[in-house]
Amino acid sequence: MNKITNTIICRVCGSTDHALVSSTVSGASDSAVYRCLDCELVYLFPIMPEEEEAAFYISEFEDYMEGRSGPGWESPEAHFRSYQAEGERRLPLVRPYLSPDDSVLEIGSSTGYFLDDLSGYVSSVVGVEPSVAYRNYALKSGIHTVEYLDDLNDAKFDVIAIYYVLEHLRDPVGYLNQLQAILNKGGRILIEVPNVDDVLLSRYDIPNFGPFYWQKVHYHVFSQRTLKDVVVRSGLEVQLFPAQRYDLSNHMVWMMEGKPGGMGRYIDFFSTELESSYSSALKRHWLCDTIFAVVTKND
Ligand SMILES: [Zn+2]
Repeated sequence: MNKITNTIICRVCGSTDHALVSSTVSGASDSAVYRCLDCELVYLFPIMPEEEEAAFYISEFEDYMEGRSGPGWESPEAHFRSYQAEGERRLPLVRPYLSPDDSVLEIGSSTGYFLDDLSGYVSSVVGVEPSVAYRNYALKSGIHTVEYLDDLNDAKFDVIAIYYVLEHLRDPVGYLNQLQAILNKGGRILIEVPNVDDVLLSRYDIPNFGPFYWQKVHYHVFSQRTLKDVVVRSGLEVQLFPAQRYDLSNHMVWMMEGKPGGMGRYIDFFSTELESSYSSALKRHWLCDTIFAVVTKND
């Protein structure tokens, strides 16, 4: 069957000039991944219709993630526990951008594990989370969490955290514009996204990695250059930092077994120096898996 039902178009710059990156997309047999030949953005096409997308995030996302990432997503309790290390990884990166007087909003706050970490360093935290089970878990733990951004009645914030959200959005520029309207003067938007130049994809030849990496929920996968472009198009300024989430064991398991889940496997004899110098090498060359961005208003 012909995969393309409409004109393939870059949703950020509007160009129809593209190169095929992957015809295999996990969970979306009718979609493919393209690179825009004008702005270089890597994008999925076609993407889910809006109604299907809304229903997916309300009720299917956790099951989808459990299928990909394993038992850390089987319940809100398991998720909260298994993401403690992720919160600890993020904290030193964000601490320089937090003040004790700050009000913090996190979009896609899940069980509230990261807001729980941040709450000790700022004056207030609030989350937006469409999943009922995860939102209720956060509420029970004392993290104020609403279903939609609109539920906050145009309240403004000093810090807005969006971790692994921007790549899921059909209109990332429009969304950043929306956030700009609820950001206080002098405020910061803290963003993390996967880096499309990840060494597992761009340098190592691992046949199973691409088909796992390209997935129906990632409408755009950014590089240092294209993330900056999207932020600048929304009239904001940005500083970018390379970050690495996955360790050397994870990479070795991908090479040996062609599958995820190897994180920490050889920790008993891999020294912290080894891990740290591997991670530094990837970051130095922007072959790391993650981009951390600090976005500010240019007024
Ligand atoms: Zn483009």
